[in-house]
Amino acid sequence: MLFAIGFLLSINLVHDSFGYNIEYKIFGRQFFDTPLVCTYQPTLEQDPYLKQWGVDRLEESARLAVQDWQSALQVQEGKNTKDNWKINYKLLTEKDVQNNLQKDCNVIIEFYPIPTEKNEMYRVLGVTYSDDSGFKLIKIYYRDIQICKTSDEKYIYYNVCYGEGILMSEKLRTTITHEIGHALGLGHYQADDPKVNSVWAKGLVDAESIMAVFSHENSKLMKIKPIDVQKIKSIYTPNGFKPINTTPVLETPQPIFEPISEKPAEQDIPEWIKQNAKWWSSGTITDRDFVIGIQYLVQKDIIKVSEVRESTGIFTQEIPLWVRNNAKWWSEDKITETDFISGIEHLVKIGIIKIN
Ligand SMILES: [Zn+2]
Repeated sequence: MLFAIGFLLSINLVHDSFGYNIEYKIFGRQFFDTPLVCTYQPTLEQDPYLKQWGVDRLEESARLAVQDWQSALQVQEGKNTKDNWKINYKLLTEKDVQNNLQKDCNVIIEFYPIPTEKNEMYRVLGVTYSDDSGFKLIKIYYRDIQICKTSDEKYIYYNVCYGEGILMSEKLRTTITHEIGHALGLGHYQADDPKVNSVWAKGLVDAESIMAVFSHENSKLMKIKPIDVQKIKSIYTPNGFKPINTTPVLETPQPIFEPISEKPAEQDIPEWIKQNAKWWSSGTITDRDFVIGIQYLVQKDIIKVSEVRESTGIFTQEIPLWVRNNAKWWSEDKITETDFISGIEHLVKIGIIKIN
């Protein structure tokens, strides 16, 4: 009955102890040499509301965000390896642009008052684009988002609107730091419970990662967290951003830190079986169809069955309800593949599902 304990434990983990699972995606290595992050000096002509202090604040936020990443990545490194995690920063002047110096930048941060895409209005503070060559363009929308009041004879309306001012420096710096995280190869840090994400987004509770999605309502300065540094270091080698062949290093296994709530390595169950499990749990396909998938897993040795009993039919008795629930949870990624498989293995072993 070992499987039952393991199974119950994992259910408890998902539904009671944790309350939610976290997914932290990565895009993989993005740079193969010390990256150069550049910013254009925003001009007063581009926005009638922008003042010189605003221009300075935008530039300073970009510089500090780059510095934050560099020091977070360097802090645990020794004297000889600090340089591996260097990130260069350059403010592109008009003269630099005339001399086409922006072509040397691996990342360019651009500032715009508001998004040009309609679906990004009031919803997006920044966005990172990537092209095939690995070049990144970060757009930061710096105009402050406020609540505006309008009224007619009968009603007063409150809507989100863009103010004349610019975002608080905390919000700017958080946004740029988050976007640089994307540029370095990080995806979002997300919980499978929308309520948890929403609490992080608003800053009611600090998320354990700079890569949590946050909203304009959050006015805190969000910091780069240890898990973010660990994730970056799991993407790159100990040589950091530097090319691997210039500084020969001893082949020591690189530590990969994984958060404990991360899903374990998946076995290779084809996607259609998961789809079947979903359909079967919702009653769309029959028990027989579902078992055909299970038989496939046995044939491929993904489910191990020590003794296969002789049988005429597929079932000797009805499949217990918890198996259906398992199938549902597995198809929704609430339990792991391993949990699902051990449940099925048990059914095969005790003869409820017969494999011909
Ligand atoms: Zn993001």
